[in-house]
Amino acid sequence: MGDHPTLRFLGAAGTVTGSRFLVEWHGHRLLVDCGLYQGEREWRRRNWEPFPVDPASIDVVLLTHCHLDHSGWLPRLVRDGFTGSVCMTEGTAALTEIVLRDSARLNERDAAQARAGGWSRHDPPLPLYSAADAELAIRQFRAVPTGVPVDVADGARATFRPAGHVLGAASVRLEVGRAPGATVLFSGDLGRDDHPVLRRRAAPAAATTVVVESTYGDRTHPRVQPAHEPFADAIRRTVARGGSVLVPAFAVDRTELVLHALQAMRREGRIPRVPVYVDSPMALAALDVYRRPSLRPELRPDVPVPLVDLADVHAARTPEESMALNAPHVPCIVVSASGMATGGRVVHHLRHMLPDHRNAVVLTGYQAPGTRGRALRDGARELKVHGRYVPVRAEVVVDEEFSVHADADELVSWLRELPAPPAVVYVVHGEPEGSAALAARIRTELGWLAVVPRAGERVALDDAPVDLGTGDAPAVGAAVVPPADVQA
Ligand SMILES: [Zn+2]
Ligand SMILES: [Zn+2]
Repeated sequence: MGDHPTLRFLGAAGTVTGSRFLVEWHGHRLLVDCGLYQGEREWRRRNWEPFPVDPASIDVVLLTHCHLDHSGWLPRLVRDGFTGSVCMTEGTAALTEIVLRDSARLNERDAAQARAGGWSRHDPPLPLYSAADAELAIRQFRAVPTGVPVDVADGARATFRPAGHVLGAASVRLEVGRAPGATVLFSGDLGRDDHPVLRRRAAPAAATTVVVESTYGDRTHPRVQPAHEPFADAIRRTVARGGSVLVPAFAVDRTELVLHALQAMRREGRIPRVPVYVDSPMALAALDVYRRPSLRPELRPDVPVPLVDLADVHAARTPEESMALNAPHVPCIVVSASGMATGGRVVHHLRHMLPDHRNAVVLTGYQAPGTRGRALRDGARELKVHGRYVPVRAEVVVDEEFSVHADADELVSWLRELPAPPAVVYVVHGEPEGSAALAARIRTELGWLAVVPRAGERVALDDAPVDLGTGDAPAVGAAVVPPADVQA
């Protein structure tokens, strides 16, 4: 492709997980996100494949946010030779530390259990990476400011802007190569317009190439009044029949929201006063990050800090306290990670709580195909846990309102806010139907070129066309920082 900078879709193409986008120019390499594949075995298998280029040849990694499907392969990249910086916002750095330590611990524990139980396909069962690998990766973190261009590599400048998805989450606009340079905007994961805790995302800046997520590219979220009524109703029903409610929730960004919602329901008298347990040490650590004074500007001004009144919440810190929750003597609500029940303490709670018809499980976010959460959402009657099947007799309820992803309308309105039409939009980070549906809307409603790239596909990144700098559009690729680039 000659001297043109190029972009390769090394992940999150044809699937939601495994975000990895490689930008190359004049002998340099930059990776946007280094995510883990999650869900179906066909995808998870790729976590064990060597990285398509030598990790030692990558100059720098940029992380859009802390979620495992964007950050979770980083320790492996470092173990396999990457020695550069990992640039991200302060909030993302703080949360990703927690996420990677936990991921390494689970990897080590699962490998040990598989060795003991003999259910691994690897012989001997090995962790994808160790706690030591995660610590090495964390040492390479570099927190960067938002709203201003930052030099991240020789010939590459990046601007991080809040994406309103989880604390610290950002869209990244990249300028690479010799001036005027190619510009490419990565949406990262975009939040909803009305996040209960975070400020709304920033407006996108102009770029010749746009890479947009499409998790909910074919769906719009319901607007429920009062908030979370199906959840409240499930709690009332379950407690009335003497059961307990299990809420699998992502520890770093969903547990706060679940507790926030539960406390509102209590205040409004919509649910009975039953004990609430947070069974995730990681969730409590993440809550501390949300309370950091330096990150206060990311929160909505009307949200009181602390976000959650912990006097009201019982924490299960030790494994013994966690086990005790498997057979509660009185109805209670247990919030535990992980959110798709792929690992973590929630798995043993499922094993004990699913067989009892009095209990309920409330799912609180996107459930990737192939996960236990997805199987429950799709009405599975049996679920495989630790190599054994358990019957699903408990009631399963889905609370869509906890989604922290923009829906199809919100994705289109983010694109509409671009100051100038891009030359092309690549639609990634979706199941095939979701990506296809969003691409179709971009073509018909915006009249733009929209492409769903194939996994592994490589495309040229063009310099800004002459007509892009018109009207109120920032001067793309110019050496001067346009005022629109600076966000308070
Ligand atoms: Zn995410
Ligand atoms: Zn994601």
